[in-house]
Amino acid sequence: MFELLPSKDCPLCPRLKSFIDENREKFPDKYNAPVPSFGPADAPFLIVGLAPGLRGANFSGRPFTGDHAGVLLYETLLKFGFAKGEYKERKDDGLEMISARITNAVKCVPPQNKPIGAEINTCRQFLEREIEDMRGRNLKVIMSLGLVSHNAVVKTTGNKLSSFKFTHGKAHEIGGGLKLVDCYHCSRYNTNTQRLTPEMFEDVFKKIQTLL
Ligand code: URA
Repeated sequence: MFELLPSKDCPLCPRLKSFIDENREKFPDKYNAPVPSFGPADAPFLIVGLAPGLRGANFSGRPFTGDHAGVLLYETLLKFGFAKGEYKERKDDGLEMISARITNAVKCVPPQNKPIGAEINTCRQFLEREIEDMRGRNLKVIMSLGLVSHNAVVKTTGNKLSSFKFTHGKAHEIGGGLKLVDCYHCSRYNTNTQRLTPEMFEDVFKKIQTLL
């Protein structure tokens, strides 16, 4: 039986493992482990982020939860009916994903929010299994938040990077009826600099709704 998530003490990326160990010492009451996906496996829509933020998803144990980026992401998911309840930046806020699932290209928190190439490549096996599993159910659209996610999804689905250039708002046909929609990451930096505004983010969600 293959695993969809790295084990709690996954040793595959030594740098990430020692960062988690360090943070377990510093913050013993926090989650500090590979962060599992959130949302039903039979959802038609999968959102792929980059990696857990130190004091956000890594502390809470739920993707984007407690991260600045989570505010816009969850508010938009709620607005478009992909989720229900209320987002209160806590894993126990009762928020429920209905027809979307959220995962990350890299499941463990990286130092300075920057996974290195080897870590992205190593962790891709989990994304690959998750996409395979969801494809066998109901998956129709993947949304990549940022270039790292885009590249991971393109490679994971057996496509060539040279054939799929990251383009904000674009829907790429990546085979077998599956579409990949690119979006700038909803990070604090991108929203503060207005590289991504809430309107732009909603426009991408509107497009996705038409594809589902
Ligand atoms: N938190 C996550 O879980 N993923 C991101 O990409 C950013 C913040």
